[in-house]
Amino acid sequence: MRITSVRQHHVENSLDGAYRPTWIPGYPQATNEGEVIEIETDEGIVGYAASPSFAGGIEYEEQLSLFLVGKDPHNLREIRRGLRTFDLLGPRPWHIEMALWDIIGKDAGKPVYELLGGEGREIPVYASTGEHKEVEDRVEYVEERVSEGFEAVKLRFGRDRIEDDLRVAHRVRDDFPDLTLMVDANMGWKARVVDEGRTWTFSEATRVARELDALGVEWLEEPLDRHDYAGYARLRDKTDIDIAGGEFTDGVHELRELLRQNALDIVQPDCSIACGLGQAKSIADEAERAGARYTPHSWTNGLGLVANLHIAAATDARWFEYPYEPPFVPEARDFFLAEAVEHENGEISPPDAPGLGVEINEDELNGR
Ligand SMILES: [Mg+2]
Repeated sequence: MRITSVRQHHVENSLDGAYRPTWIPGYPQATNEGEVIEIETDEGIVGYAASPSFAGGIEYEEQLSLFLVGKDPHNLREIRRGLRTFDLLGPRPWHIEMALWDIIGKDAGKPVYELLGGEGREIPVYASTGEHKEVEDRVEYVEERVSEGFEAVKLRFGRDRIEDDLRVAHRVRDDFPDLTLMVDANMGWKARVVDEGRTWTFSEATRVARELDALGVEWLEEPLDRHDYAGYARLRDKTDIDIAGGEFTDGVHELRELLRQNALDIVQPDCSIACGLGQAKSIADEAERAGARYTPHSWTNGLGLVANLHIAAATDARWFEYPYEPPFVPEARDFFLAEAVEHENGEISPPDAPGLGVEINEDELNGR
């Protein structure tokens, strides 16, 4: 089998209003943008990959074709070598690997999770928020999610005053004592388009970690800069709450380094951003051997979510991220899939059709 063509489609849909992601301080989002890569083969099998995008995206179809056309999509080792070269020169190419697994699975007649050694198990999802909301608004949000069957919610920290962050967590804990709570500080990286956003000192991170531990919070995510491996390790020494991170690292080397330096209890590579799909599975395996846990970041779009879900189903991941902050709702998140990926009573399982197992809504692939 040979790859015959690579096509890039910039996709974009308007949300029903705007939301204010904590990781892009001061820059409300009214659209969900992505770059969809369509890879065709000489046997008629087509695979899809997607990465998040912004401001109309960057064109790289021609450059990517140099590393893919004429190659056997099963030859991941050789293609990864090419993608490492691409990473030196262009935008991150790690999402491409999901299209290759899509092709390999369709060729084998098996879903990707099965190729990775997993089963189509159901994984509990947590409703992942994206904004800093006022206490009452957040309580109302949690009520709605609980009524939909969610048993876990991830809150966002990083307001100007830590007291305001903690007030929300205390209130949600008080009102929903049985709810599993996660907290994402979003200090690891930020898209600093207009605003620098808040950054915690080490002692602030320590204080928050201890207070959240007392509230029984499941994990504290990215309390420090993503490159501060020593700080993460030191924080783990000084506190008991599980520390999570690694969603936006660049390549497997950095993820291995995080594990080697005992920087994390929970590693969260997103295979549409941080490293390739098969490489994320290998990091999950390495984490398990090192006594750490794996649960992927999935906040990009429907295809990225599904690709990460296949990996999670092939690991012992206890939780799966379900991005949900209106107007960033499942239909908007998954707009270029034929059907939105829905949880069922707080659980989700990967599609069992061959490959990634989802259909693309061709009307959304407008091309360039
Ligand atoms: Mg995060």
